[in-house]
Formats: sequence, C-alpha cells, structure tokens
Amino acid sequence: MKRLFLFFVILNLLVLHSREVASQITINKVVIDAGHGGKDPGAMGKSSKEKDIVLAIALKTGAYIEKYIPGVDVIYTRTNDKFVELYKRAQIANDKQADLFISIHCNSNPSSNPHGAETYVMGLHKSKANLEIAKKENAAILQEENYAHMYEGFDPNQDEDYVTLSLFQNAFLDQSLDVASRIQDQFRDRVGLTDRGVKQAGFWVLYKTAMPGVLIEVGFLSNPKEEKFLLSDDGQAYVASAIYRAFKEYRRAFHKENSSAISLIKDEENINNDQLFFRVQFFSSQNARSLNANIFDGIADVAEYYHKGLFKYTAGNMKTIEAAAILKKKLIEIGFNDAFVVAFLNDERISINEAKQYLKK
Ligand SMILES: [Zn+2]
Repeated sequence: MKRLFLFFVILNLLVLHSREVASQITINKVVIDAGHGGKDPGAMGKSSKEKDIVLAIALKTGAYIEKYIPGVDVIYTRTNDKFVELYKRAQIANDKQADLFISIHCNSNPSSNPHGAETYVMGLHKSKANLEIAKKENAAILQEENYAHMYEGFDPNQDEDYVTLSLFQNAFLDQSLDVASRIQDQFRDRVGLTDRGVKQAGFWVLYKTAMPGVLIEVGFLSNPKEEKFLLSDDGQAYVASAIYRAFKEYRRAFHKENSSAISLIKDEENINNDQLFFRVQFFSSQNARSLNANIFDGIADVAEYYHKGLFKYTAGNMKTIEAAAILKKKLIEIGFNDAFVVAFLNDERISINEAKQYLKK
C-alpha cells in the first residue's frame, strides 16, 4: 500500500508539472470550498458546528466577489448542508479549470486558550501541531464509503503518508504563498484577528487541486470569544470581506505582473483605462467596516478603498462630476455632512483636477 501511494504522488507530480507549462494568464475563476457538511460536522464549539460557520463565510465571500469583481466566476463545492467527499471537491475545481482554490475551515483545540487565524499551503509540516491539523481535516475521508479506493492508498491516520505527500512540491507554491500571506495580512490588519501565520501541511484537497490553493483556519471554535465572533453575522461578514479583499489584491497584482507579456490582458487593461468614475466619499475610519454594516444601509454602490492609512467609503459610480454632485447633496441631507466628490481612474484614486484633464483629452 505504501509503495502504491508513493507511486501516485510521483505520478501526480509529473502531471502537474506538464500542466504548468500552459499556466494561467488570468484569474477569472475561483473555487470557494466550505469544509465538511452533512454527516461531517467538522470541529464542534459549545454552541456551533464548523460546517455551518464555514458555509456562511464561504457564501458571503463568494457574494462579495461576484458583486464587486465583475467577470469573476465563483464556483462553490457546496451551497448547503450536504456531505461532499474530499476527492470530489478537488475534482470540481479541476473540472472547471479554476484559477484559485480557497478552502475555509475552523480550528479547535482541547484547551480554550488558542485563538487566531492561520492559512495553509500544501507542503511538509514543520511541527506536530500542524500535522495534527492536516490529519483532522483529512479525517473526513474516513466517513466516506469505499474511501480506500478513491485515495490512492493514502491513509489519513499514518504520519509517514504525510512525509510521502510532502514529496509532492506544488507547482503553484509561490502563488499559493502569495494568496495565503495576503489573507493573513487582511485578517491581522483589518479584522484584528491574531495572526498565527502562513503554514504548510499535507491537506488532501490542496494536494489534488491543479491550481494555486490555500486552506484557511479562520479561528478556534474552542475559544469562547472567537466562537462568539465567528457565530455572529458581523464576524462572518468581516472574515468574508477580508478573504474577498485578499483575492482582489492577489488578482490585481497577478494581472499587472503578467500584462506586459500577454496582449490579451493588454486589451483588457486598455478598456479599463477608459473607466473614469466619480464617487462620493462620505465616511472614513481607521478600522475596516463590513460593507453590510448598518451605517451603509440604503446607500447605493458602497465601495471601500484604503488611502493614506484610512479605510474610506464611497457611494455611487458615476460618469460625470455633475451626477456625483447631486448624490453628494443627498448624502449631506441624510447626515453625512463631510461628503465630497472623488475621482477614480481604473480604480485608482486621482485628483479632481487630474480627472478634468483626463476628460478634456
Ligand atoms: Zn475543517
């Protein structure tokens, strides 16, 4: 059995490296994988189950991406409380030829002390604790019927199988690490979660997905404070918007880096260059707010940008400065006395003067 598994790991490695030659040039398809489901509840808190919390966060994350990044296809491995085999989750991502795989999970510990978020990429665990996390997540396999046939002889309980698994060096390690660190940055800087860092371990879903991928442990259900946060609608929205923002930044940086070589992207960017918008800035804060927060109720097209150390919130998305001025007046009427018009070219903030110059051209 052990030799069989080693054989499959090497085979998978060869297949992946041949695929890398035709590697991606755009990031337009993302798979959001809510861990566990159905008969597999995942980690249990005092009054919560991992499967419910990660599903809520996954759906919110996908909704943000669909709403704010048009042109990106969001694919879910599950959208309700059903059991999905681990091999099927990877299969869904591979069949759809997704550009990124994001698996969402919650942590737990026998002690109620540990807290914070960590994000994993595929690789060899550097500590026993990290190995234990991978074992726990891979244990879903044992709930599947006929699992011995579907997993190439891999035994989620055998430590040595994780060493074999680590022979497999993910062809997309750099990109996966990039996404992972952006997610941790967002969690730490904008949600205020304790940053437990980017880590590596042998997760079956990351091993089998032929694209960059991360597995996020958003927090500990065994920690009462974190459980309460993750159970709350606001907490889930904060975590989801952090993942969404990390994805947005990763995608933008990736497209920028690849744009010079690829004419297809150049065309896309040229179209974007024509996109000058006026918005009305009406609120700013040192801490990021969820776009679902009550203060934004009833305001159209609320968007966030980070500028000079503050999170700034705008309304509207208008082609002319005159239309923005009308919206500004309305926002002042409902109490946002400091509202003012700002301009964005290709989603970058520019001055009103620069916008006027641009319009003259
Ligand atoms: Zn899990």
